[in-house]
Formats: sequence, structure tokens, C-alpha cells
Amino acid sequence: MHRLRFHGRGGQGARVASKVLGTAAFLDGYYAQDFPLYGAERRGAPVAASTRISEEPIMERGVIPAPDIVIVMDETLLQDPLTNPVSGLKQGGIVLINTAHSPTEAKAEYKITAQVITLDITKIGLDMLGMPILSTLAGGVAARIVGLSEDSLTDAVKKVLSEITTDRRLLAKNVAAALYCFNAITPIETKIEIEIETSDTIEKKSSKVISLPFEPAEVSSPAINATGNTPLRMTGNWRVFRPAWNYDSCTRCMICVARCPDGCILVNEDGFPYTDYDNCKGCLICVEECPTNSLGKVREVHAKKVIGK
Ligand code: SF4
Ligand code: SF4
Repeated sequence: MHRLRFHGRGGQGARVASKVLGTAAFLDGYYAQDFPLYGAERRGAPVAASTRISEEPIMERGVIPAPDIVIVMDETLLQDPLTNPVSGLKQGGIVLINTAHSPTEAKAEYKITAQVITLDITKIGLDMLGMPILSTLAGGVAARIVGLSEDSLTDAVKKVLSEITTDRRLLAKNVAAALYCFNAITPIETKIEIEIETSDTIEKKSSKVISLPFEPAEVSSPAINATGNTPLRMTGNWRVFRPAWNYDSCTRCMICVARCPDGCILVNEDGFPYTDYDNCKGCLICVEECPTNSLGKVREVHAKKVIGK
């Protein structure tokens, strides 16, 4: 069985990526499960989703604590100790990282000892879709890693996206982007240790009872350890893009200050607004709302440090 975990940020499409993969696997004749694990449902917040794929009926349920493949849709998550996307990765497993780094650079940067594949999926999404929504693209690379067919990936993207949008041009672009990602990587072999069958495991396999162990809170739910800890969380870690200022055209109208949902646009001594980047989550509402286009966006690559700075 393949057990995959997708890690992304709210709005990037981790849930849909796992669904595209599960649907493609089903169309290729496998048994499949796909499901998300939501925490705080906010744009930019860490989100995880899982897919199981097997030639046999799948009796496991619940989150995947020990995946053999991890898809990291936002590399800033690798610097977030509360997310830790590679936790539980099996010996010999694979990590696909959405980054402009080479695999060697990424392994060194993020201190990963597992096998690493890299692809700048965000750039592909921006080039081919015009937006950093990466669901079908991440589904495409995952489909390639587990060895599914192009035809099933194509049909899965069409099926899953047609439940979300009626925009045929967007759907066609997503099919093209998913296939581009599918063909952009060279899969490497998973070297997962084969479980040795013992009388105990054979007995468990033949059991009709589905075991649903109670997961500890840090696995089964978001961790809220103390009251009043929002400032410590520093949601600047969530950004995919950061707002960038051009004061030449800024009229100091303060619309951006009023519109920021997190209250993290401050005003300097000269009356110009500026961003508290420790807490700006990168929603870009300020960019949309500025009447003089004095705010642009710059792609974020490295996350700010979070708790324990
Ligand atoms: S409105 Fe602008 S400053 Fe406020 S959180 Fe969103 S991107 Fe950051
Ligand atoms: S909305 Fe635009 S023009 Fe108004 S204060 Fe903000 S950056 Fe300046």
C-alpha cells in the first residue's frame, strides 16, 4: 500500500490534490482513500490531507502517522516546528518539495535525510494557471511518483474540478498543468522496508474488525496549549506572497490599514503604512483594496521563525 500525506496552506489545494490522486488511483483500478485533516480553517493556515492506494481493500482508517511519501506544497512549512511535514516518514520514503532549490540544496537547507525530489510547482502554477492554486499540479506529481497513468490523471482532474468549477478554460489549463508536472519529474524508487508476515500479522489481516485507535490530541486535533498565544504564533509564517510597498503613489488614505483582517498594517512617523511581517499572513487583501495600486506582491520563499524566536 502507498500512504501519502500532502502538506500545504489553506487555499493552496492540498485537499483537492489528495482527491485528484485518490480518484486517479481508483480509475486505474486500485482501492483508494483520500481525506483532509483540517485545523484552523483560515487561508494560509497549515493544512494536511492524505491518500491511501492499494491493490487490496483498505482496512486502515484515520490520519496517516507514518507515510511513505510526503508532498510538501509550501516549503515554508518545513521551518514550522508545529507542522513538521516529514514527521513519521518511513525509512526509505520520499519527500516531494515545492521549491526552486535542487534536491541537494533542499536536503541541506531543511536537514532532511530522506530521498528528496524538488519541483517549483508555484512557478508552474503562476505560469500556466495565473494563480498559486496547486491542487491539480501536486496531484500530478504524486500520481507520477506512485506510478499511475496519464489517462487516469487526466480523467481525475476533469472529474474532481468539474465538481468545483464550470469554467472549461480553467479546467483545460489544470489538465495541462497536471500533465506538465506529471512529466516534469523523474520518480525515484521508494525503498520502504517490507513488513515480514508473522502469525500475528496474518491473523490481523484476516480480521474483519476495523481498529480505530484513539489518536493523541497532537495528532487528531490542532494544538491549543494556552490562552492568549496568538501573538506568539506569528502568522507571518503562513505567507506564500508578501505585500510590498511603493510609497511614491501612496496617498495615505489608510484603506489598507482598515481592511487588513489581522490588524498588522501599522503607520510610521511620516504617516505611511507599513507591514508587521511577523504577523502578516499574506492574504493580500491590502493589495486588492489599495485604490492607487501602491501595493504589489512578492513571492515568499523562506518562512519567519515561529514560536521560540
Ligand atoms: S491584508 Fe495585507 S498586511 Fe494584512 S495580513 Fe493580509 S497581506 Fe498581510
Ligand atoms: S490603501 Fe494604498 S494608497 Fe491607501 S494608504 Fe494603503 S497603500 Fe497607501
